[in-house]
Amino acid sequence: MKFGGTSVASAEKVKHVANIIKSYSKENSVVAVASAVKGMTDDLLQITESVKKGNKAEIEKFIDKVAKTHMDIAKDAVSKKRINDELRNTISSLIKELEDVLSGMVLLGEVTPKPLDYLLSFGERLATPILYYALKDIGVKSEYLTGKDAGIVTDSNHGEAKPLMDTTKLKVVHNLEPLLKDGIVPVVTGFIASDQNGNITTLGRGGSDYTATIIASCIRADEVWLWTDVDGLMTADPKMVKNANVLKEVSYAEAMEMALFGAKYMHPRALEPIVDNGIPIRIRNTFKPEKNGTLIVKNPKAGSHQIVKAVSMIRSAALIDVRGGSMVGAPGTAAKIFDVLGKSKVNIMMISQSPSESSISMIVRKNDLDKAVNSLELNLLGKVIKTINVTDNVAIIAAVGSGMRGTKGVASRIFGAVAKQAVNVIMIAQGSSELNLAFVVNDKDCEEAVRAIHDEFELSKIS
Ligand code: ADP
Ligand code: ASP
Ligand code: MG
Repeated sequence: MKFGGTSVASAEKVKHVANIIKSYSKENSVVAVASAVKGMTDDLLQITESVKKGNKAEIEKFIDKVAKTHMDIAKDAVSKKRINDELRNTISSLIKELEDVLSGMVLLGEVTPKPLDYLLSFGERLATPILYYALKDIGVKSEYLTGKDAGIVTDSNHGEAKPLMDTTKLKVVHNLEPLLKDGIVPVVTGFIASDQNGNITTLGRGGSDYTATIIASCIRADEVWLWTDVDGLMTADPKMVKNANVLKEVSYAEAMEMALFGAKYMHPRALEPIVDNGIPIRIRNTFKPEKNGTLIVKNPKAGSHQIVKAVSMIRSAALIDVRGGSMVGAPGTAAKIFDVLGKSKVNIMMISQSPSESSISMIVRKNDLDKAVNSLELNLLGKVIKTINVTDNVAIIAAVGSGMRGTKGVASRIFGAVAKQAVNVIMIAQGSSELNLAFVVNDKDCEEAVRAIHDEFELSKIS
């Protein structure tokens, strides 16, 4: 069971989560994975701006705020004095360590991926002990482990580390199975792991989902439950589309497509570890445990094959359009462009090239835009590329559903609906899997476009 950031964001919520774990652990072996308190990872990322500027006053304020947030939750999450004291001591020493890390980073005045992962680890390392002590408080036998203690070993690609599954499997089985056999609930930090040299790594944003599926695949769990703040995987983000509907069952393939395009901010690789073992995932609402949520399985039951099942989107994207007469009919042009971007560690999210070959359009994350444009200018401008144009505020929208495969007229319905709202489509891509149709619009139009497609396919009526 993995609990997201909202589920551990107050003392009440932590106690509620501890009770959920308690009730299920009576008849099942349960591993609990916890995220950072909602917003904490964003805040830790944000403070790096002050680190770069050497703004010590801001950093001190930040440390006080982090300490207060966690102490406030801890205060009422655990009622037994002795256990509460232990928890507060744990938080205090972590805050001291956070202070040291930030001072070190300020001295250096730069933020590189390895220390950044160390910094980001504090979100999960502060939140998870609160849940662990709350479980102890209500008499659940449990043990606290970081991702590293649990045995998750990754490559050294800080910020987006990948588990080395063979080593991880051996270690996780070795570390967790004895606990489970003794009826102990391991309480593991999500999102963080360590590389082979013992350095802290992070699995990428939303990585606690990934932690849960990695562990599940190692111990061959019966199911993975991702407890969150919405009723399940939905036809669209309920914060944007008021009549969004819960999907009862979706296939691994569909859920992967949805995750790739930002649905529930799920880690895009989170399904990889469990697909081969066929372990089902259930997404459930922590605050409405009576609801069934969404079941993600290999083959959903017949009847759940609507043409389009969900509309998702990714904001904070930018479009780079490169042009040049010498690109026409010159083999290897695209390869050169992608090679340059790849070496600069820029992830290209979407590509389109018209058959006339005089331009290639690419979508990258806004954070990567400067890096991408700089490297293209330095390496290729004036050679294979004549001009580089940038549109820096776009969103990718994707309609997802296995029923799209082989169904005629889906694209015309999608673009017809979007056109009726007078939204301009900037770029289009459809993979040959036909599981999704993705297109790009100006960011200001994205919500309208999502709603238009949601209405067109009557997704609020899906059952
Ligand atoms: P957690 O902390 O539990 O991992 P996240 O904040 O990462 O939760 O993701 C849950 C949020 O994802 C929801 O609150 C919802 O606003 C958003 N979301 C976006 N698209 C979808 C979707 N298709 N279905 C469900 N939730 C979605
Ligand atoms: N705390 C991490 C993040 O915000 C991991 C997670 O929440 O899954 O990305
Ligand atoms: Mg999440």
